[in-house]
Amino acid sequence: MDPALGPPEKMAERHDELTPMMRQYHDLCARYDDAIVLFQVGDFYETFCGAAERTARLLEIALTSREDSTGEYPMAGIPIDNAESYIQTLLESGYRVAVADQVEEPGESSGVVERAVTRVITPGTLTEDELLASDDNNFVAAVARGNGSATGPDDDSGLALALLDVSTGDFLATSSTSSEAIADEVSRFDPSEAVLGPDAPPDLFPERCMVTPFEAAAFDRDHAGETVSRYFRNPDALLASDAEIRACGALLSYAEYVRGGEHEGERDATLDGDCDETETDGDRDELETDSDGARLEYITHLTRYDPREYLLLDAVALRSLELFEPRAVTGSEDATLVGVLDETACALGGRKLRDWIRRPLLEPARIESRLDAVEELTAGVQRREELHDLLRDVYDLERLIGRISRERANARDLRSLRETLAVVPDIRDRLSGVECERLRELHADLDPLVDVRELIEGAIVTDPPIEITEGGIIAEGYDDDLDALRTTARDGKRWIDDLKERERERTGVGSLKVGYNSVHGYYIEVTNPNLEAVPDDYERRQTLKNSERFVTPELKAREDEIVGAEERADEREYELFCDVRRDIAEEVERVQGLAEALATLDALVSLATVAAQYDYCRPEMLERGGRSGGSGPDGDASLEIDIEGGRHPVVERTQESFVPNDARLTDDRRLAVITGPNMSGKSTYMRQVAQIVLLAQVGSFVPARSARLTPVDRIFTRVGASDDIAGGRSTFMVEMDELATILREADGRSLVLLDEVGRGTSTADGLAIARAIIEHIHDQVGATTLFATHHHPLTELADDLETAFTLHFEVGQEDEEVVFHHEVVPGAATGSYGVEVATAAGVPEPVVERSRELVDGAAGDDPSRGDTAGERDANVTDDSAVTGPATADGGDIPTDVAAELRTLDLAHLTPVEALTELDRLKRLLEE
Ligand code: ADP
Ligand code: MG
Repeated sequence: MDPALGPPEKMAERHDELTPMMRQYHDLCARYDDAIVLFQVGDFYETFCGAAERTARLLEIALTSREDSTGEYPMAGIPIDNAESYIQTLLESGYRVAVADQVEEPGESSGVVERAVTRVITPGTLTEDELLASDDNNFVAAVARGNGSATGPDDDSGLALALLDVSTGDFLATSSTSSEAIADEVSRFDPSEAVLGPDAPPDLFPERCMVTPFEAAAFDRDHAGETVSRYFRNPDALLASDAEIRACGALLSYAEYVRGGEHEGERDATLDGDCDETETDGDRDELETDSDGARLEYITHLTRYDPREYLLLDAVALRSLELFEPRAVTGSEDATLVGVLDETACALGGRKLRDWIRRPLLEPARIESRLDAVEELTAGVQRREELHDLLRDVYDLERLIGRISRERANARDLRSLRETLAVVPDIRDRLSGVECERLRELHADLDPLVDVRELIEGAIVTDPPIEITEGGIIAEGYDDDLDALRTTARDGKRWIDDLKERERERTGVGSLKVGYNSVHGYYIEVTNPNLEAVPDDYERRQTLKNSERFVTPELKAREDEIVGAEERADEREYELFCDVRRDIAEEVERVQGLAEALATLDALVSLATVAAQYDYCRPEMLERGGRSGGSGPDGDASLEIDIEGGRHPVVERTQESFVPNDARLTDDRRLAVITGPNMSGKSTYMRQVAQIVLLAQVGSFVPARSARLTPVDRIFTRVGASDDIAGGRSTFMVEMDELATILREADGRSLVLLDEVGRGTSTADGLAIARAIIEHIHDQVGATTLFATHHHPLTELADDLETAFTLHFEVGQEDEEVVFHHEVVPGAATGSYGVEVATAAGVPEPVVERSRELVDGAAGDDPSRGDTAGERDANVTDDSAVTGPATADGGDIPTDVAAELRTLDLAHLTPVEALTELDRLKRLLEE
C-alpha cells in the first residue's frame, strides 16, 4: 500500500482522540482511499503524514508539521490560487487527487468547518482547462463483457467499450466479439484512464493508461440500465447489447462519482475494486440513493458505432503512418499527419479534425460529401480566408457549456460564450449562397442563439471579475431589486461624500475629515487643537496621537444602510448570476449543436486551406464494387489505387524538393515487390500510398496530381524489426506476432504495407519467411500489398505469382558517390550500392575502403555494378552484405544460394535439417 494513500496510520491509531478537523481529514482519506486528499485549510490545500511526505517531494514544497494535543503530524500544503499546476504534477506521477473543499463559511456553524470532496481529479476525467490539451479529446474508457450475470447464462454479445470525454460530453460506445477489435478501438481513441469492472479482460489498455478499478455494482446490468436511462430515454433501443449498457452505465456512474459528493451523505458511491459478490447488494443499495442531482446535464448524446463503419487502423498502423506521433526520435513535433493537416482556427475544429483522422470513412457517399465541401472552400479563396479569421474568435463552446452545466463557469465564461455567439451571424453570412449539400446544412445549423446572447448581454457586465460572489457582475437595469440596493448604497455614499463640507460648515473646523477604515467603519476626524468645536452629537470612537475620531448617530445609520445594501446586492448578484447560468444550461443541446456545426466548418476550412496551400488534388472515389476478374479467393472485393505524381504529405514538408511518384495497383496487379538500396525511398513511397488512401477517406484532398481510389477497410503496416529500433520494438518475436495478425485478419479489402519484414533473423530464415508470407498473401489473403525488401531473390518470385509485380528505386552514380533519384520504376533493382551509401552517409574512409575490399574479395571483379542478384547493404556488418558468386565446378553459384550457404549455422543443425536444407538449396540451384 502506498503510504501517500488512505487514512494515515498515525491518525487511525488514535482516531477517537483526534481533533475534529484531523478526524475529518482521516475520514475523507478513508473514503477516497485511492486518491491523495487535498484538504482545504483557509487559502491552502493541505496534506498530512505519508501524503505530506510524498507531495512535498513530488511538488518540491516545504514539509512542515502541525502540532496539536494529540501529537505532531507532517504537513505540506499548496496555495489554492495556483493549485492546478501542482495537481498536474500529482496526476503525472500516477496519482488521483480528491479535492476536499470547505463547504461552509468559517463561523457559519459552531463546530469545525464542514468539508467535502467536491471533485476527484483523475487523468481521464479532467475538466480543468489548464490541465487539458485544447485540441484533442481526453477520454476515459470502460469495458464490460456480456450481461455480467453471475448465475444465469451470459448473453454472447462479446466485449463492449464505452468512451467519455468528461470535459466536452462526447460519449461513444461500441462492441465486438473480438477482443483484438476492441484493443484496436482503444488505441484509436487512446484513453488516458480506464474504468474496469469485475469481468474486464486485463491487458486491453497500454501502460500509459491509468487503470481504475470501480465498484462491481455500477457494472450490474440492471443498475447500469437505470443509470443510462437517467440520461437517455431508452437504453435498449440506443445500445446494441447488455455489454454496451453495462459499460456505458458504469462510465456514467464513474463520471458522477468523480464530480464529487456535494454534501455528505447525499451520495455515497465509493471506489471499490473488490468484486466480492456478497458485497454487491450493499453497494447497490448505496448507489441507488444517488439523486438526480448527480446527473451531468451536458452529456446529451451517446453515439453507438460499429468499428466496421470506419477504416480500421490498429496501434501499429497508427504509429507507423505517423498519424499523431512522429516516428523518428529526432523528428519535430509537426512531423505527423495531423501536424501537416491542422490549420484549424479554434479548439472545436482541432478536436473534430483529430476525430476524422482517427476514424476515416468507408462509405463513398459520406466521403464525397466532405470532399464537395472541401472543394467549394478551396475554390472560394476569399470566403475561406474570412471564415478562418472569424473562426479564430470562437471559444471552446463544448467545454464552456460543460462548465456552465456543472455550475463551474464564472461570469467571464458567460461573456466568452457571448463573444462567440456574436460572430456566428458573420460566419453564417459568409456561408450564404454556398452550393454543396454539406455546407448548406452547416449554414442552416449555425443557430446564433440570439435569445442566449441577449440574455448574457442584458445580464452580465462587459468585463466582469473572476470572483462570482463579490458583486460587480450583473449589469445595471437587469434587476429592479438589485438596482434599488445599488441606489441605496450610492445615495448613502453620496451623503457621506457631502458630509465633510456640511460638518466643516457646522463646526467651523476647516481641517475636519471624513474617512473609512475596515475595523471601525466611517468616522469624522478632528485634530486635537479643534476638539473644542466638537458638537454634542459626536460620539468618540477612536483616539489617535494628534486627533480623535467620532461618529454621529446619523452617520452610523447611513453606514449600516450602505453596508447592508452592498451585502444584499452581492448576494442578489450571485443569485441572479446563478439563475442566468442555469437558464443557459437549459440550452445545452442547442449550444452543443452550434459547437458541432462550428467544429465541422473549422475542420473543413482547415482541409481546404491545406489543399490550396500545398497543391493537393481531389481524389476520385470509386464505388466498392465486387471484383471483376474474381481471381483471388476473396472474389468479393475489387480494389483500385491509381495515384499519379503522389507525394508523402509529411516528408514533402521537410524536403527541399520532393520527387513525386506514381502508384498503380489494380485487381491484376495487387502485390508490389519493391527493391532498391537503403535510403532510396522505399519506405517513404509505401507510406505515402497509404497516407494518400487514408487522407482521401478522411475526406481530404491528397498530395498528388491525380488519384483514383477505392476505399479500403483496413490498413496494416509492419516494419521489419531492425528498421524500427527507435520505436522500441526490436524483437523478432514482436514482428512475427504482428505478421500473424495480418495473415489472419487481412482480406481483399485491406491495404498491407510490409517494410523489410523478416529482418530480425538470419538471412535464410528471413528470406524463407518473407517468401512464404508473399505467397500466402497472394494465394489466400488477396490483400493489396506493398512489399519492400532487401532480399533480392524475392523479386524473382514476383514473376511466378499472377498478380505480383516488381518496382524498384534507381540510383545513379557520380564518381564514387551515389545519387538518389527517389524515383520508382518498373522491374527489379540492379544493385544496392550499400558501400556508396555508407560513404555518402559519412562513414569514415578507412571503413569504407575496407568494406570495398571485402565486397571485391567476395564478389570478384566489378562487384557492385550490374550485380543483379546480389545484395549489399549500407550496414557492413549485416550478414546480407556478404555476397558474390563462388566457383565450385567452374560454373557460377547464384549469389543467393552462396549467401545462404555462408550463413548456414552448421553447429546447430540436426542431420535431418541439414539434409532438408541441402535439398532445398539444390532445388534452388536447379531453378
Ligand atoms: P529506404 O526505405 O529505401 O531506405 P526511405 O524511404 O527511408 O528509404 O528514404 C530515405 C530518405 O530519402 C527520406 O528520409 C527522405 O529524406 C528521402 N526521400 C525519400 N523519398 C523521396 C522523394 N520521393 N523525394 C525526395 N526525397 C525523398
Ligand atoms: Mg526503409
